[in-house]
Amino acid sequence: MPKRTKIVATLGPATDDPKVIDDLITAGVDVVRINLSHGSHEEHAERAEQLRNRARASGRQVGVLVDLQGPKIRTGQFKDGEVNLEIGASFTIDIDYPIDEGNIDIVGCTYKQLPSDLSRGDTLLINDGKIVLWVEDVNGSKISCKVQVGGPLSDNKGINKQGGGLSAPALTDKDKHDIEFAAKIDADYLAVSFVQSADDIEMARALLQEQGGSAAIVAKIERAEALDVIESIIDATDIIMVARGDLGVEIGDAELPAAQKMLIRKTRERNKVVITATQMMESMIENPIPTRAEVFDVANAVLDGTDAVMLSGESAVGKYPAKAVEAMGRVCYEAEKQSIARKSDHRLHTHFGRVDEAIAMAAMYTGNHLNVAAIAALTESGSTALWMSRISSGIPIFAMSEIVATRRRVTLYRGVYPISFHPLESDSQRINQEVVDELLRRGAVRDGDLVIITKGDFQGLEGGTNVMKIVRVGEHVLPD
Ligand code: PGA
Ligand code: MN
Repeated sequence: MPKRTKIVATLGPATDDPKVIDDLITAGVDVVRINLSHGSHEEHAERAEQLRNRARASGRQVGVLVDLQGPKIRTGQFKDGEVNLEIGASFTIDIDYPIDEGNIDIVGCTYKQLPSDLSRGDTLLINDGKIVLWVEDVNGSKISCKVQVGGPLSDNKGINKQGGGLSAPALTDKDKHDIEFAAKIDADYLAVSFVQSADDIEMARALLQEQGGSAAIVAKIERAEALDVIESIIDATDIIMVARGDLGVEIGDAELPAAQKMLIRKTRERNKVVITATQMMESMIENPIPTRAEVFDVANAVLDGTDAVMLSGESAVGKYPAKAVEAMGRVCYEAEKQSIARKSDHRLHTHFGRVDEAIAMAAMYTGNHLNVAAIAALTESGSTALWMSRISSGIPIFAMSEIVATRRRVTLYRGVYPISFHPLESDSQRINQEVVDELLRRGAVRDGDLVIITKGDFQGLEGGTNVMKIVRVGEHVLPD
């Protein structure tokens, strides 16, 4: 079986060649990310279409994730190019200063709220923390700072406040316009950046639905204050992204490992899906192999229980996009052999709210305790497969569905493999046989293997799963 952990790769100039797209698919990419912080709608629409065409041609299901830019606060531009800030020097950010006239003493900023969010004693982190400014005084439009950590500063670099507390709403006007775009290209996932609360998620979902979109929502956790209300954000969203880049700047890099583990654990406990992102194989932007530390990082995320690991610059602008996917897949595959990646006491003592949920749990309990080769979940919405995949296991879960949106949505769920399944017969015995035949055809099972099948008495009914059946491949399959 292929790896269980899913790989998200960001598209960009480095993946525009159709040959590279084919290589990404062969290397095992499951979802591609379209990052709306860069590029035009036309360019992104083309990339999504090309990817889907190539995936179809190779018989693979690959999801498309559209990532909104969000209210990333940035410096203005410099009149004569890059400046070099010296430790101890004074440097001012002024929201009324001409946006493209910056120099060694002062720079503009388009976020007009910035002065009211700051006061003396605050720390500003510029360019992912490479430059550190101490706020000495806030006066009208001007934020006067002392340079604490200096270095080169060029145009449009991100500004974060240490500890969080910048008040910009998560959805900008550009984001609202971009949600329309996500609906238009029929994105499978929509990622909301700099989420502060569950309201941000609800607003994005409502706007998306207004536009006729049905993407699953990804909440990017990259603000310190999101951690304070994390349970309500998890409950409101479909997927959590551990956005380690910006989050690390706000809460401090040393706090990140604990935050990642907490986020993965809480997300899985609440039956949602989690992506671990940023700098996982950063050195592969330049090099054909990852560092040992990067290998450990990916493996540790797998052992933490993440559903997916993500590539950003490595695939979007790096020299070796397909090699980065391949390296990640290799590391995931080995990490998944560890027994802690296959055992679960999750929800052993909880009460189940629904019949389909109880069937999903029963299938996993049985699968993990009996020698079962595969689980086949006949699913309309994919929720049976989602519940199943919250239980750590080594058994492949095949989400068999007629619905393409469902097959694309499960591409992110760990251990779940989508199969296009259009039963020819309505008779339940024949359907069981068709399921087994399909798994045999794919080489997923062999004669004598045990297979668990879950389904509903009434095909085509969402949430209707109420049957679990165990069959032995090669034996006559009896009716339910
Ligand atoms: P970005 O988000 O790549 O859109 O910045 C991820 C992160 O901050 O880690
Ligand atoms: Mn970010």
